[in-house]
Amino acid sequence: MLNSPDKNLWQSVPMSIQNFPDRHIGPSPVEIAEMLKEIGLENLEQLVDETIPSSIHQGQDVPLFNALSEEETLKKVREVAARNKVLFSMIGQGYYNTVLPLVIQRNILENPAWYTAYTPYQPEISQGRLEALLNFQTMVSDLTGLAVANASLLDEATAAAEAMALARKVSRSDKNIFFIDEDCHPQTIAVIKTRAETAEIDIQVGSPKELNPVSVFGALFQYPGSSGQVEDYSSTISSLHENHAIACLAVDLLAMTLLKSPGELQADVAIGSVQRFGLPLGFGGPHAGFMAVKEEYKRALPGRIVGVSVDSRKQPALRLALQTREQHIRREKATSNICTAQALPAILASMYAVWHGPEGLHVMASRIHTLTKTLVAGLRLLGYDIKNSTFFDTITVKTDGYTEVILHNALQAGINLRHSSPESIGISFDEKTTPDHIHTLWQCFSLKSEIAAETIESQLGALPSVIPDSLQRSLPYLTHPVFSSHRSETALLRYMRTLSDKDLALDRTMIPLGSCTMKLNATIEMLPLTWPGFSDIHPFVPDDQSAGYREMIADMEKKLCLLSGYDAISFQPNSGAQGEYAGLLAIRHYHHAKGDFHRTICLIPSSAHGTNPASAHMAGMDVVVVECDQKGNVDISDLKAKIAQHHQTIAAIMITYPSTHGVFEESIKEICALVHQAGGQVYLDGANMNAQIGISRPGDYGADVSHFNLHKTFCIPHGGGGPGMGPIGVKKHLIPYLPEKPEKGSGYAVSATQFGSASILPISWVYMLLMGSEGLRKATEIAILNANYIASRLNPFFPVLYSGERGHVAHECIIDLRPLKQATGVTVEDVAKRLMDFGFHAPTVSFPVAGTLMIEPTESENKYELDRFCDAMIMIRKEISEIENGTLKVEESPLRHAPHTVRDATESLWARPYSREKAFLPGTIPPGAKYWPPVNRVDNAYGDRNLICSCPPMAAYS
Ligand SMILES: *Cc1c(COP(=O)(O)O)cnc(C)c1O
Repeated sequence: MLNSPDKNLWQSVPMSIQNFPDRHIGPSPVEIAEMLKEIGLENLEQLVDETIPSSIHQGQDVPLFNALSEEETLKKVREVAARNKVLFSMIGQGYYNTVLPLVIQRNILENPAWYTAYTPYQPEISQGRLEALLNFQTMVSDLTGLAVANASLLDEATAAAEAMALARKVSRSDKNIFFIDEDCHPQTIAVIKTRAETAEIDIQVGSPKELNPVSVFGALFQYPGSSGQVEDYSSTISSLHENHAIACLAVDLLAMTLLKSPGELQADVAIGSVQRFGLPLGFGGPHAGFMAVKEEYKRALPGRIVGVSVDSRKQPALRLALQTREQHIRREKATSNICTAQALPAILASMYAVWHGPEGLHVMASRIHTLTKTLVAGLRLLGYDIKNSTFFDTITVKTDGYTEVILHNALQAGINLRHSSPESIGISFDEKTTPDHIHTLWQCFSLKSEIAAETIESQLGALPSVIPDSLQRSLPYLTHPVFSSHRSETALLRYMRTLSDKDLALDRTMIPLGSCTMKLNATIEMLPLTWPGFSDIHPFVPDDQSAGYREMIADMEKKLCLLSGYDAISFQPNSGAQGEYAGLLAIRHYHHAKGDFHRTICLIPSSAHGTNPASAHMAGMDVVVVECDQKGNVDISDLKAKIAQHHQTIAAIMITYPSTHGVFEESIKEICALVHQAGGQVYLDGANMNAQIGISRPGDYGADVSHFNLHKTFCIPHGGGGPGMGPIGVKKHLIPYLPEKPEKGSGYAVSATQFGSASILPISWVYMLLMGSEGLRKATEIAILNANYIASRLNPFFPVLYSGERGHVAHECIIDLRPLKQATGVTVEDVAKRLMDFGFHAPTVSFPVAGTLMIEPTESENKYELDRFCDAMIMIRKEISEIENGTLKVEESPLRHAPHTVRDATESLWARPYSREKAFLPGTIPPGAKYWPPVNRVDNAYGDRNLICSCPPMAAYS
């Protein structure tokens, strides 16, 4: 019997004891049935049929791919990781080896308390990450010697493009040329050039010696240069200033511990990347970019800025500052289109600085510099000249015809060097470089004369100083106590824990933020992130060393195309907004190729996310707003009118589907057709793909290009405000206009590396492998079910603003609080803050409609959690009733005093018209599960009037 297994016998054995989709999806079959009943539906099929317009619903036609078990998935991902070859990369060009201290890796990078948090728009429940980001800003500001730094940008190249845009805005020069030092990293030059083209700025790339300061409005120099050269730009900077031009420096923060800072050189702007502060190479990212500026330019800074303010008790409290600069308020007039940035990488880098402190960083930089000098002295003995006379950690060696041999020798020895030019090789040292590497390199270069390493060492003598005296750093940095108080591992561990305890992330509660899709970030998806096969790959290694990455990306492209109906994907955009920019550029280039240079109008419905108009502006288009009708749909007659009015000049429409109003518009096909008839292209904002995957495909119903927010629909955690990935899918005709390889310095590019933040792609890939197309469709159905369940439970208490033809919402719903505000004075903010007392993160406040809350539960929340949330909302509605019926004044209500803190609880005199129990333990919160917001309601305006964007002295907290 045992030798001839009975087929039927094995068929009765379950395939696998693990079923990932059932773990990813919150509600059990019983709960699903209960929820359907509450909504008054028979089954999920009926829900989908009545919600998604039949004209776009694909039924069973969406192509299939199978799910793998967790074991099979891990095996597959391990195999792919193993196909990436991990060599020791000394390529430099903006990317260096670095050691992320394990205490930080495990307790932040691998800790859901940190990585599942949302952008800190609700400051009272975000004080921990706000403090870490304030440390980041302080670190950047200290090391650059400039007054104000932001809380991260997407990468160094995009930060450089932002610097040019800022210079254009603030410069009083009437010239139109921006100068780029030819010794900037090639990818930086490519991204700036791309941005300059649409901004109609002329670019001049050259040697700083050729710069005519009279002819430019701004200039960017790399310090130290891409070649390694350390140049004193102070006199160039002052002649730029004499001509009202803005001086920008791209800097390396580690080098700044030894070199005179941009501030001391009188530069106006400093940008760069904090990659080498502990962030794995990761084949290109995610790495936090940064920007610091002189005080007078702070209002022109792009991205988020954390600032110090006070709470209602006048105690210091942190929150995001100067938000009126940003896309969600200023739209096409914003300083940038940045939404998702690089919060988590910035936090990691800040902790790296907290861990090493000023002395540690100085020792590290000095060591790297000394090792580099040693290498150089030996190379000279071996008969080589170094192109750069000064350097910190990078040299460019003249190879005298030996380029190929040396590169080959190095590869044989397991080392990647930079193929700078046919006649030269670049070598960069870093935290991981050891004397052994120097010996190996000497060997690789032993071609003209053979000298043993020991002999070279014995002949070296004293190493001369190569950093000019005028550029030696004297300005102190990282002097705030936070950078010297957490030196033992115990101390740092507790500091990080203290911070994360202040915050509410997905590991404690649902985060029902509409438009943000805060779903499960499963442990298995996060696991490969820190495997060396993914994390130790330099972005510019020879292709054969990244074979595993390329295989994974090709498979993701195939699957995303199957799910969306597009023909190709570019993985270069490292956020959704950057995807919008890239997609619109593709459209622009498509029109230009046809000679249609006059097509510059971008139609955008009034309900659009702020990134849409901001990206359209960046892509050189003029925004024309299309109104929505009373049901929240695009007003077709207004659309027709706008098309007629802008006859022949329509470039594109940007439309979100299902709409940001949380509804599947029946007319989507008609909208696409109308724009196509007018010669325009359709950009479909894919942020809401969580309502479509496996059911309908934008590429089939008329869209030409979309971005996918992999950090929404495909499980990359939000990280407290990034990282994310915003790859774009396009139809065939747009493929020739996708972004090109940035590292060549030519062509067009939207971020520093070809595959953006490549190292977080395994998260989304694992998700797709585990779910299979069927699991993904099921997830979409449950996302829609959960939203409709909430809408159904809350509608009697808070009217649901918009719904589709048959009364259903899509995967999110907007509840309208404006009538209650009219009647009682209770604001959406009051409700958002009161939810904190219940231990909840608020839904999205006042987007896309002011005075409303937008709720998106996602498929990952079970009925228990949905009910807990609905119960809290209903209880809050009862509290509002007490104001309505005159029992309580709004000013003295628990709503207005929310959130309630320990300071409130320990007031000796309780003089409020509601009980302490109601204040601190509303609903059915067990005392042991109580979350205490660390500060009372934060005063936003105060902080903007008294702007402080770096760590305040400790005395401020006493
Ligand atoms: C989140 C979002 C974006 C922007 O995506 P980021 O990744 O944050 O840049 C654009 N549109 C909509 C509708 C969104 O919800």
